[in-house]
Amino acid sequence: MKKLLLAALLLAFACTPRTSVTSPDGKIAVSFDPQAFAYSVTVDGQPFIEASPLGLAALEADLKDGFVLKGSSVKSERSTWTQPWGENKTVRDSHRELSLKLENASGVRLNLVFRVFDDGLGFRYEYDVPGADSITVTDELTSFNFASDAASWSIPADFNSYEHLYRKMPLSRLQDANTPVTMKFADNLYASVHEAAIYAFPEMVLRRAEGLSFKADLAPGDIRNTEVKAVAGGSFRTPWRTVQIAHSAVGLINSSLILNLNEPCAIKDVSWIKPMKYIGVWWSMHLGIESWGGEHHGATTEQALRYIDFAADNNIQGVLFEGWNDAWRGSDALPAFDFTSAAPDYDVEKVAAYAREKGIALITHNETGGNFRRFDSQLESSMEWAENLGIHAVKTGYAGGGMHDYVTKHSQAAVEHFQRVIETAAKHKMMVDAHETIKPTGIRRTWPNFMTRECVRGMEYNGWSEGNPPSHHEILPYTRLLGGPVDYTPGVFDIEYRSIDGMPQVRGWGKPGTECRVNTTLAKQIANWVVLYSPMQMACDLLQNYENHPAFQFFRDFDPDCDWSCALQGEVGEWIAVVRRAGNKFFLGATTDENARTVVQKLDFLPKGEEYTMTVYADAPEADWVSNPYAYQIITRKVTSEDTLTLALAPGGGAAVTFLK
Ligand code: CA
Repeated sequence: MKKLLLAALLLAFACTPRTSVTSPDGKIAVSFDPQAFAYSVTVDGQPFIEASPLGLAALEADLKDGFVLKGSSVKSERSTWTQPWGENKTVRDSHRELSLKLENASGVRLNLVFRVFDDGLGFRYEYDVPGADSITVTDELTSFNFASDAASWSIPADFNSYEHLYRKMPLSRLQDANTPVTMKFADNLYASVHEAAIYAFPEMVLRRAEGLSFKADLAPGDIRNTEVKAVAGGSFRTPWRTVQIAHSAVGLINSSLILNLNEPCAIKDVSWIKPMKYIGVWWSMHLGIESWGGEHHGATTEQALRYIDFAADNNIQGVLFEGWNDAWRGSDALPAFDFTSAAPDYDVEKVAAYAREKGIALITHNETGGNFRRFDSQLESSMEWAENLGIHAVKTGYAGGGMHDYVTKHSQAAVEHFQRVIETAAKHKMMVDAHETIKPTGIRRTWPNFMTRECVRGMEYNGWSEGNPPSHHEILPYTRLLGGPVDYTPGVFDIEYRSIDGMPQVRGWGKPGTECRVNTTLAKQIANWVVLYSPMQMACDLLQNYENHPAFQFFRDFDPDCDWSCALQGEVGEWIAVVRRAGNKFFLGATTDENARTVVQKLDFLPKGEEYTMTVYADAPEADWVSNPYAYQIITRKVTSEDTLTLALAPGGGAAVTFLK
């Protein structure tokens, strides 16, 4: 009898599907509760996310109730993979996956997949509704019920823009947030909630449910009917919902979790995809001294040739010309751009031929003003046109509060459009720098021609508003950049726009007459080229401010095609130090908020026994972002991995360092 009981117990145990999984190092544990249809997470044995609801809501089927666990499986992954560019070209993927097979009374099948890494977790829903042609998703129930309060850094949940300043506030006071939202808990535990691999699905934001519980909310498709979030086929899967976890602030940055949750590269030949430094006709428009069209048109043939010459003379690979094409037509409500015909004073054939002769890449600019359907209608023709001219990079823009036709900018329809742009661009060997698009979720791994994007309150705001405060740049690496590269466009040397005094102001913004300036020191602008990672990195200032400037040597030496990166030290919103290696060169950037700070850093990242020439572009002792932003010094000496570097950062300051053989 005893034996029979034991056998029955063993059988029952063997047949009970597994409902929990730990990270490879055993420190993060995820449990699924089938009865409650909820998940929970512990870190180092302590509650981190308490029981939190799961599921979606839809019109045609029940995607959230009555699910019964039919089975589960666990598997381990331990591999490395490489990418043509990135903060790190070689990436390690080590995780355990728990796959839960569920079914409810109405026959809906759900595969709920958790992947747990040493630096966090991701989970997603794979639904199969037999017999259904289409499913109208009306809500997502996924919640994050944090076990304790934390400091948090986030931008508001805005379905049409990420161009906001960050708020630091306790989780217990946070009402809503876009992602990545980054948190600091007790005992130096850091976390960031985001998502990975958004395809054919709206973005997720967080809204407070109750206490410390935040519920997912999805961007509606149409601002006139916010009930409908997504329309999917009978079988569909969601993006991954992700929680990065680290025991230091820089640990979040050094994680590859978002990339690891994306699919391998879908482009066979990636030889044409190359990081670059670039300059462009752009900043002058934001300063108000030139314009995208009309009398003060910036992108003229003459100016283009001058920019190409400057790039060729300064080890810069690319040049962007905003306002190169036919100026705005149509109305403000329905702007109509043409992406294959140039403005009358811009001889695109001549410019393209000159760029080819000089070995400079042209970056064409397709601003849509949110009229994405018009861009759709010209996608093929505009990419083919550019390819025929030898142009292999395009900057896209969707300026304005939303998409035209009442479409929400971060909605499913917009996400599908952005993806069409990437895939059509790939077909024509075009790299993409997208502005005002969907936030980065790691699809650059699958589509590495998607180089960089804005999705941030970038440099442009310093041209015509009160600008971005010093701490903005020490928040971004720990929040927005966790998703992927940013086209912030650093590098303004004329901090207070002195060089444009007396120039005609052709737009009703910017100097003269306003208090606009850049809220950093000069040295911090240089450091941001390293800190604010982008494989297409821009030196955005007017050429006259770089010509003969000793500190511009940094940008000449800088190589954005890095092989390896490490965030060395820092705190969210306070300071950061990052080092990157490109070939045998190393570049270090360190920046601080409005407080002066001394950063002491061992150079043990350098190869042992090798001597490097170190050049430090630093704040001068008297520098201060408010009163003396231009004061800088350049110091050169020989160093090895045995040395320690001490950097004195001014208030709102920074330092950039090259280590060259
Ligand atoms: Ca913008």
